[in-house]
Amino acid sequence: MKFFKGTKLYSILTGTCPVCHKESMYLESNPYKLGRIFDMHEHCSHCGTKYKIEPSFFFGAMYVSYAVGIAFAVAAFIIAYFFLGGGLLTSFVVIIGTLVVFMPIIVRLSRNIWINLFLHYKPNSGNN
Ligand SMILES: [Zn+2]
Repeated sequence: MKFFKGTKLYSILTGTCPVCHKESMYLESNPYKLGRIFDMHEHCSHCGTKYKIEPSFFFGAMYVSYAVGIAFAVAAFIIAYFFLGGGLLTSFVVIIGTLVVFMPIIVRLSRNIWINLFLHYKPNSGNN
């Protein structure tokens, strides 16, 4: 992951602050602890960035999650249908299973992508 440091991809994949990349936005790093999946810090303690830019800011992440969900579904279909040689019905079941199993990751990824559309990395933020 260090390789991506300084790019939006780093913040998206690790859930770190989109501005300084120095700490996680989330109180609980494991997305599979479902009760805490949406629990986020208010501000970044390094650079002071406010994550919830406006009320119900993360509502917009739902739109992103459609796209991310479709990406996972397409990937699951290609693997099940073309690589594993499953039938259409099997592939369909695999898609549903994939979406259920990866839902916490999809939710988090969507939030990370969404906030990274609005906030940009500043290399020297939070060093003062
Ligand atoms: Zn920060």
